[in-house]
Amino acid sequence: MIQLQFLAQVDEEKCTGCKLCESVCPAGAIEMVANMATINADRCIDCQRCIDRCNKENAISRAPRPSELIRCVDHSDVDQLQLKTLCGKAGLLPDMPICGCTRTTGKEAVAAVLKGANTPEDVCAMTGLRAGCGIYCMTRIFQVLEACGIDVDNPPDRRWIKLTLSLSDLPEEKVKQIDEAYPQCCVGQDWRKLKQRHVHSAAKEDTHV
Ligand code: SF4
Ligand code: SF4
Repeated sequence: MIQLQFLAQVDEEKCTGCKLCESVCPAGAIEMVANMATINADRCIDCQRCIDRCNKENAISRAPRPSELIRCVDHSDVDQLQLKTLCGKAGLLPDMPICGCTRTTGKEAVAAVLKGANTPEDVCAMTGLRAGCGIYCMTRIFQVLEACGIDVDNPPDRRWIKLTLSLSDLPEEKVKQIDEAYPQCCVGQDWRKLKQRHVHSAAKEDTHV
């Protein structure tokens, strides 16, 4: 969930149509129209990457939205069992935040896909993921898409690379080391919960064979 008070705006006089901003937008909010960058307000999550990228021409700035907007996905009206199953398949705990910046949960990201998101950009535009640092949530987005049966290919311009390692893929020894170094993060607790969930899912699948 993210509260949006601003969005990106393009200065038509300054835009050269170089497309650099389009290539870095995590939400797919920039489209080139008549050789000029155009912002889709319904998708912009105010991450400001386009502003950083356009530093030579300085053609993009932030403008206040007419009113504050909350960007999030309501997961209360989707099949809760399906939501839980897909979170498990993605290696995520439904209520665990998958992004330290927006605190978006695993179940919100899965709900975004169940409600029509087909690409990483769609998930970002609907949930606000990658509005902050954008480092850790990207992997979670791929895990969610993959669990929901959506295969994502690396884009030709390599603006991201698909990685799907999950916390539960870490070996126990490494988790112990992290717990000792950062006890406040409760990584071991989450790791054990995920492992238990995987054991239960495997047992359930065995009984269905
Ligand atoms: S990076 Fe700047 S100059 Fe290039 S297309 Fe985007 S807004 Fe226009
Ligand atoms: S989502 Fe970020 S990169 Fe895309 S238009 Fe909005 S501020 Fe620019």
